[in-house]
Amino acid sequence: MKKIVILGSTGSIGTQTLEVCRMHNIAVRALSADKNTALLEQQAREFKPEYVCVYSESSCPDIKQRLADTDIKVLCGMEGLCQLAALPCDTVVNSVVGMVGLLPTLEAAKAGNDIALANKETLVAGGDLVTDCVNRHGVKLLPIDSEHSAIFQCLMGAGDNRPEKILLTASGGPFYGWTSDQLRGVTVEQALNHPNWSMGAKITIDSATLMNKGLELIEAVRLFNVKPEQVEIVVHRQSIIHSAVEFCDGAVIAQLGTADMRIPIQLALTYPERLPSPAKRLSLADIGSLTFGRADEQTFTCLAAAKRAIALDGNAPCAVNSANEAAVTLFLNKKIGFLDIGEAVNGALDAVKFISKPTLEEILETKSAAEQYVAAYFGG
Ligand code: MG
Repeated sequence: MKKIVILGSTGSIGTQTLEVCRMHNIAVRALSADKNTALLEQQAREFKPEYVCVYSESSCPDIKQRLADTDIKVLCGMEGLCQLAALPCDTVVNSVVGMVGLLPTLEAAKAGNDIALANKETLVAGGDLVTDCVNRHGVKLLPIDSEHSAIFQCLMGAGDNRPEKILLTASGGPFYGWTSDQLRGVTVEQALNHPNWSMGAKITIDSATLMNKGLELIEAVRLFNVKPEQVEIVVHRQSIIHSAVEFCDGAVIAQLGTADMRIPIQLALTYPERLPSPAKRLSLADIGSLTFGRADEQTFTCLAAAKRAIALDGNAPCAVNSANEAAVTLFLNKKIGFLDIGEAVNGALDAVKFISKPTLEEILETKSAAEQYVAAYFGG
């Protein structure tokens, strides 16, 4: 029986991962949440892990009290997350939000655990630090992000044939086709209303600004070892084709399916095997037609910033990612406007000192510098 650890079990990916565990009798060694102790308790009582962890230290007394009648060990903070990641298991599912996932990912690799990654910020910001660590310790980095799972699936069976191009599909988010003038007044409520996917708040805002696609472009470069110019973003409103690869003979292989994250989650846990899934089946005849278009980088400036950052590489992707995390928090708290996010991300990229081969310390310093830039930019 497979044994896994889930970092970020109370979020959208975490809860769907537990659905997959329930279906296929996958054992859960450990669960973690940021601060949703009520759901974490409920999950712990059902899945009976040996450990739980809350990232937010202030939630620690509460979860300890909630689980006082069990023999589940309770850990807290970054140290707790890193301990969970290093527990002997088959796979660590990293579905935390933001760069918080970086250190636990490195710990999981060092401990020889395969990593199922939903936390793209870690790979974007950590760059070579993550991929080198994964390679050095001979563990697998299995993508959960639907596009990257699709690319991964398109490459299953490709042998030594490398893709010439990756076609990264994008739904375009709720504001596809909008002008800057229209975007200026966008509210948090409008931005949280994604047309195709139901996700957590941070990634939903990233989808609305197209920062998510920028982060995914960087993620694809890292995961599949291609150059940024080999990744083409294709707006595909229906989210049926989850991405595609093109080979040197011009053949394009795509992966299709309904928009159900349980498919990529399950494959990341059972790879190379495929198991039955209750995911709704795709009926192309019912859908009738699929459409494609280009992304508007002039209007969606976060995407332009992400492209500039990966062209530079080094600590630049970390700078844009960290500036974005800080700006999205301010936007969700209604402190700044929708277009301010792109301003902050581009500004931070120009302002933060560039380092071509950053160490882990320098990556963490870049994160702080980008956050400070954003705070200062908005007078915080
Ligand atoms: Mg995605």
